[in-house]
Amino acid sequence: MTQNPFLSSYTTPHQTAPFDKIKNADYLPALKDGLAQGRKDVDAIVANTATPTFENTIVALERSGDLLGKVTSVLFNLNSAETTPELQKIVKEASPLLSEYGNDITLNEKLFARVKAVYDQRASLKLDPESAMLLEKSYKRFARNGANLNEKGKERLRAIDKELSQLSLQFGENVLNETNEYTMVVTDEKDLAGLPDFARDAAKATAKQKGKEGWVFTLQAPSYGPFMQYADNRELRKKLFMAYNGRGFHGDKNDNSAIINKIVNLRYERANLLGYKTHADFVLEESMAGSRDKVQSFLNELVTYARPAAERQLAELTTYAKAHGFTDDKLQTWDNSYYAEKLKKEKYDLDDETLKPYFKLENVLNGVFTVANKLYGVTFKERTDIPVYNSEVKTFDVFDKDGKFLAVFYGDYFPRAGKRSGAWMNDIQGQKVENGENIRPHIINVCNFTRPTDTKPSLLTFYEVTTLFHEFGHGLHGMLANGKYESLSGTSVPRDFVELPSQVMENWCYDPEALKLFAKHYQTGEVIPNELIEKIRASQNFMAGMANLRQLRLGLVDMYYHGQKPTGETISQVESRVDSVANLFPHVDGIAVSPAFSHIFAGGYSAGYYSYKWSEVLDADAFEFFKEKGGLDNKAAADSFRKNVLEKGGSEKPMELYKKFRGREPSPKAMLRRSGLIL
Ligand SMILES: [Zn+2]
Repeated sequence: MTQNPFLSSYTTPHQTAPFDKIKNADYLPALKDGLAQGRKDVDAIVANTATPTFENTIVALERSGDLLGKVTSVLFNLNSAETTPELQKIVKEASPLLSEYGNDITLNEKLFARVKAVYDQRASLKLDPESAMLLEKSYKRFARNGANLNEKGKERLRAIDKELSQLSLQFGENVLNETNEYTMVVTDEKDLAGLPDFARDAAKATAKQKGKEGWVFTLQAPSYGPFMQYADNRELRKKLFMAYNGRGFHGDKNDNSAIINKIVNLRYERANLLGYKTHADFVLEESMAGSRDKVQSFLNELVTYARPAAERQLAELTTYAKAHGFTDDKLQTWDNSYYAEKLKKEKYDLDDETLKPYFKLENVLNGVFTVANKLYGVTFKERTDIPVYNSEVKTFDVFDKDGKFLAVFYGDYFPRAGKRSGAWMNDIQGQKVENGENIRPHIINVCNFTRPTDTKPSLLTFYEVTTLFHEFGHGLHGMLANGKYESLSGTSVPRDFVELPSQVMENWCYDPEALKLFAKHYQTGEVIPNELIEKIRASQNFMAGMANLRQLRLGLVDMYYHGQKPTGETISQVESRVDSVANLFPHVDGIAVSPAFSHIFAGGYSAGYYSYKWSEVLDADAFEFFKEKGGLDNKAAADSFRKNVLEKGGSEKPMELYKKFRGREPSPKAMLRRSGLIL
């Protein structure tokens, strides 16, 4: 019998995961060993008869479950990037074991008593900031899950959590049903006027697949989006729009109104039970923004800038529409994408095919390495002897400016069956200091970019270029991590802070200085011309006021539900309050955003939707600092960003880290300037 590779030290370069040796049969046995070992670690902490100290309780807890982490990081990385039915089965079996393990820790009263004993002495412990943060996080992990409640309180909390998870699931299922059950059948080809071939072909294929005559449009994004953008038939645009925006709002079995009401009330009760005024207070305690007032005033302030810009842009769009056959007085929401698409084409005429030859994958990857090198002095050296799970995965040694080994970087860029869609960064091994040794991280970027063909290399769309920079930015947060504790290292930071390193990297894709380093025609070597760079920059801001207002509106709806005692108003009442400040289009009966707002009712973004805008404010504000300090060639900004943000992970409060980097709190002015909303 061969040895289970998880159960001994890896003998690969840098002790990277031996993907070539791990077999499906290895996961569950190693995972079960890992769970048992983790439980033994925890039992030892609880059984310790010595007085609880930071070392014997908090640090010991942090170090527990090493083997478990080793197995799960490989398992979950592969389940995202290279899954198979067998692997999915393993994950299905592993998931309840893991949540049970997590619960066993957070519900362990004796363990909590020791953690609390240390936490209660925190003022006199003289811990360094990182250790103080570990103590606070460890304590809150229990407290925020109800460890301080009496039996009755705990019971109620468990009941609420159970009901909330069922309601969220039901909410999501209803949205899915509403999305999947609807079709719009078109039988007269005249009704397809305006639609490009790809949209017609897709609709034809859908019809065939559903056994229908003609063309079938659905509420799935690839069908819905192009129809709203291109279809000349205004009545049909309205019809499809009403269907999309009426999801979960038809008073039938899929209606989400009552579910929203229940969720909002239960979240409020849960927050009160745990000692918070509202659900938003509970959520925002662990964010960079820090408080409900801060988020509310952030959104309100941005509305004051976005709204006038959106009004100007809507007026421009209306004038344009009227010059192109629009005869009504006011544009409706279902006219917006249609005319915006035409106006954009007229103003910028920039399509993917024009840009793609300048963005060969290898050139872009070299570009992002060069940018990282200029900023932080790091270098990348490809190697071929590190085991990978698919031959398409590339591996690199990453070295610091003094030549010291920093990290392993894996790049996995093409779509395959078995890889989920989208793009993400992950670590396969986290960074930490153990027994005086700085254990360096193994970081991976996984994307789904345009494949090379027999005649052409992989040529990226501009969106793919920014995605590569984005994920690489997360990657740098991991690779440059330099903390003591793994749970606070790298990207283990609040959600409204985690996109700063990634989004700040995207800015270089619009920066002429950086672009010219790598955007070279794959056949001629010609550097991307200035006029194309100008077009990229200008089109980025097209209708930015309206886009901003749309995002702010969603953020305000989220805060209205979660930032106060539930008002008992209907969905329409709630939304009309928000719309009076953040929506320029006429009110239409029968539609609403809340009943399909899965981010906040089915996903984890409740009281957190603002963080999309917040992150934009951060990255623009940070990037302006880089530019003020001389761009790529001046190290002052990069040094400060590395030292105060990238190396620090979640080891201190994000607002404090940001202030150390920037010298002040973030200001929204840079984002507004970048979007052309103010001068
Ligand atoms: Zn991201």
